[in-house]
Amino acid sequence: MRKIEMVDLKNQYLNIKDKIDRKISKSLLTSQFIQGENVKKIERKIKEKLLCNNVISCGNGTDALLLSLLAMDLKKGDEVIIPSFTYGATVEVVAFLGYTPVLIDVDYSTFNINGNLVEEALGSNTKIILPVHLYGQCAEMDSIIKVSKNIPIIEDVAQAFNAQYLLNNQWIYAGNIGNIGCTSFFPSKNLGCYGDGGALMVKDDEQAKKIKMLANHGQSTRYIHDLIGINSRLDEIQACILIEKIKKIDDYTSKRQKAATFYDNALKSITELILPYRNPKSNHVFHQYTLKVKNDKRDQLKEFLQKKGIPTKIYYPIPNHKQNAYKNIIKKTGDLKITEQLCSEILSLPIHTELSKSQLNYICDQVITFFKVK
Ligand SMILES: *Cc1c(COP(=O)(O)O)cnc(C)c1O
Repeated sequence: MRKIEMVDLKNQYLNIKDKIDRKISKSLLTSQFIQGENVKKIERKIKEKLLCNNVISCGNGTDALLLSLLAMDLKKGDEVIIPSFTYGATVEVVAFLGYTPVLIDVDYSTFNINGNLVEEALGSNTKIILPVHLYGQCAEMDSIIKVSKNIPIIEDVAQAFNAQYLLNNQWIYAGNIGNIGCTSFFPSKNLGCYGDGGALMVKDDEQAKKIKMLANHGQSTRYIHDLIGINSRLDEIQACILIEKIKKIDDYTSKRQKAATFYDNALKSITELILPYRNPKSNHVFHQYTLKVKNDKRDQLKEFLQKKGIPTKIYYPIPNHKQNAYKNIIKKTGDLKITEQLCSEILSLPIHTELSKSQLNYICDQVITFFKVK
């Protein structure tokens, strides 16, 4: 049996190596390293795949969030509602721009923010609602939209590329539900490149033009600066990789979903585990397969599996409201107890496109053995 990895990027690459190598070599020979034809092509491919109005690529997922906020013209002190249980980058960009991150607690079963708490947190300074589709499953967008009072919604789609959500009887791709969707092509993400990359999906055409300028030094045309922007670009080589990988995204998604179903079936009888809840309104793309381990056994289970050659990860061990960088800047709503509980219970098992039946069997057998002996 192959060594088990959290994400097996090497073997995924080996399966598409010829195509990727050929595309990169060809691109190197054209020597158009920045904003060449491959960058334009991947933007078009994403637009076609996810049925977006506009797609703008950028340097990484954090920049995508930063650009989306820049485009909204907020003032210092304006509030942005975000879930307390998310990767730090979501909080960081808001704070970095001098806006106030208003953290609200998440739902214990879905790990995502819920509309009721969003409604309670809304105030006269609320300018943006920024839900995160954590682990690959969409947040409760219909309840968020219902209470949003037309406040713009920016979706953090970094973990949910290719996920869909059922809104008003229609399946919509994550990133197209709110005003702007921000995604990341970090290597381990569901659509990842071999370095940094990101993109924005933008509903409104004028806003899309503005974001394109903001990502390119605020230039409308070369050397004409109309806005104060940044330099954030996807590069050609990363675009080459993404063009090959997006062709396989449905296959990759289904492989992750099959691995998740395998875990569900094998682990469902363990009473000390809570398996990932599946919202019938979202097709979970399983960026992570995250267990909740009861009775304080999470760390013991992690250590046990480690000894058996099975890596696991805790996404994320420390709540954002307890991070030194953010704790004095954020505004807390409520006690954020669910976030704290989750940080102590969660454990993500390996999930990726290259997991074999024998690897899955082995992982599940070891988890079952742990709970038999402990
Ligand atoms: C990965 C991630 C980001 C940041 O993306 P980068 O490409 O690493 O900058 C933002 N939000 C969430 C939820 C993420 O998982």
